[in-house]
Amino acid sequence: MIKEYDVIIVGGGITGACTARDCALRGLKTLLIEREDLCDGASGRNHGLLHSGARYAVNDPEGARECIRENLILKKIASNCVEATGGLFISLPEDGLDWQAKFVTKCREAGIDARILDPEKVKREVPAVNQSIIGAVSVPDASVDPFRLTDANALDAVRHGADILKFCSVEDFVRESGRVVGVRVRNAGGTQEIRGREVVLAAGIWAARLAEKAGVHISMLPSKGSLLVFGHRVADIVINRCRKPSNADIIVPDDAVSVLGTTSDKVPFEDCDDMRVTAAEVEVLLKEGVQLVPSLAHTRIIRAYAGVRPLVSEGGDGRSASRGIVLLDHETRDGVPGLITITGGKLTTARLMAEMTADLVCSKLGVNAKCRTAQLPLTGSETAERKVSKVIDHKLGNKAQEGTLAAVGRHGSESLKMDFKGPGAELVCECEQVTRAEIAYSIKEFGVRNLQDLRRHTRIGMGTCQGSHCVRRAAEILAEELGCPDRAGEFLNDYLQERWKGMTPVLWGETLREAEFMRNRYGRKDYEI
Ligand SMILES: Cc1cc2nc3c(=O)[nH]c(=O)nc-3n(C[C@H](O)[C@H](O)[C@H](O)COP(=O)(O)OP(=O)(O)OC[C@H]3O[C@@H](n4cnc5c(N)ncnc54)[C@H](O)[C@@H]3O)c2cc1C
Repeated sequence: MIKEYDVIIVGGGITGACTARDCALRGLKTLLIEREDLCDGASGRNHGLLHSGARYAVNDPEGARECIRENLILKKIASNCVEATGGLFISLPEDGLDWQAKFVTKCREAGIDARILDPEKVKREVPAVNQSIIGAVSVPDASVDPFRLTDANALDAVRHGADILKFCSVEDFVRESGRVVGVRVRNAGGTQEIRGREVVLAAGIWAARLAEKAGVHISMLPSKGSLLVFGHRVADIVINRCRKPSNADIIVPDDAVSVLGTTSDKVPFEDCDDMRVTAAEVEVLLKEGVQLVPSLAHTRIIRAYAGVRPLVSEGGDGRSASRGIVLLDHETRDGVPGLITITGGKLTTARLMAEMTADLVCSKLGVNAKCRTAQLPLTGSETAERKVSKVIDHKLGNKAQEGTLAAVGRHGSESLKMDFKGPGAELVCECEQVTRAEIAYSIKEFGVRNLQDLRRHTRIGMGTCQGSHCVRRAAEILAEELGCPDRAGEFLNDYLQERWKGMTPVLWGETLREAEFMRNRYGRKDYEI
């Protein structure tokens, strides 16, 4: 029997996952389709900054207000995905203090708690910061794990009845008398049609190409942003430059490491599937980054990566195009009923984007159900971390080890499903403190197929050593858990190939030494599995 859904959502980034959650919570029969693993697009290749809105306060007050509202909501409903680091906007002598004055006024108008600080005090309290600062403002920026946030939304959607099809690409739309009534998909098993009363495109930059298949034109601007990951946390607070937004003016603490970014360049659509960071981009990032934190000049860069912002624009460059939310009802806009596009926006505002989309879907289906996503905690964030740790201590009969505590920090109450007893307690990734129990949980809950997928769901190999020490062990465990022990070598090789891509643009000094170490460790015959 052909299954029919109320709503089919195309794209398993943060926007698609939040939309699936919202629709499922409103009682809609919901399907989310993603051509790769969740978070394979921009949602897995960004800065991980939970904007307070301060960055947009001067030039985009509406965007700033959206950010601060969502920032406060996410801190409440997604406690295990957000680290409330706080943020600083620093002024250097060449910036002067004119921008700071305008910035603080605009932040306050948008409802952002911006406080002017004594620069001398900031220098003492945040020793990594450029010691020549002449001004500093504190704002409620935070660090957010985009993988965890997307997973939490997707899990919540499934627990409220949604289906998720991963590794399944939408190739075309099914149309009847001009109306979109479903999608044609392809996966390893072949092609099939799936019917839905409404189809939502949440496919990021790829929405433009997909929409063309339904005869709809969306003018999108692929805007590439490159970022550098440094080997440790250079500061425990987000540091921004207090000036008109520009290249490399934000550094974000991200678990054990720091992320510096970003650039903004228009790229052709054809390049969006394989973004590589260039030597010129690394140079720009470093040149500007050391202005924020001078020690970056001699801190090991562990990798570089890039993503594409799904901006909607009629022209101009990436920075001038709006980062605003774009919700398109193709029935009223283009005469194509059954199709909706949601794009633009930010990771920070994805919940709001989903709310707007689900409101539109419900109005089209005649469903009267209110949005509850701003009030209900996300999967994993229902119980305070302290309480979860206590329950685990009790189950184990003694104090939980570091790996167990790290799992609680990452997955919150979901970690109660992990079996930390016996072999489950084995620490596989030392940098990110990932245990065998967490690996087993992630394989089961997220349909992990390889080490790349495992990395997204657990952070394995994302820390300081970038997998040099743990990845072989992880490959063996993954192969064992999946019941195919002979594939461990294949998992390891695929993972290393992917890691090289991120290391190549920064292959000098310590990174080169680390790469040589990895090559010796895994490239020689006697280390092959
Ligand atoms: C460099 C950079 C830094 C950023 N930093 C921040 C930040 O610090 N804070 C912040 O709030 N925002 C930030 N953003 C913005 C944020 O990352 C994006 O707005 C957000 O991730 C977009 O999510 P999305 O789900 O709409 O798109 P995506 O994450 O791109 O998801 C689209 C999904 O659709 C899938 N797809 C495509 N075609 C098909 C198909 N045919 N069938 C099925 N699936 C398909 C893709 O595989 C992809 O997973 C940044 C963006 C970039 C690029």
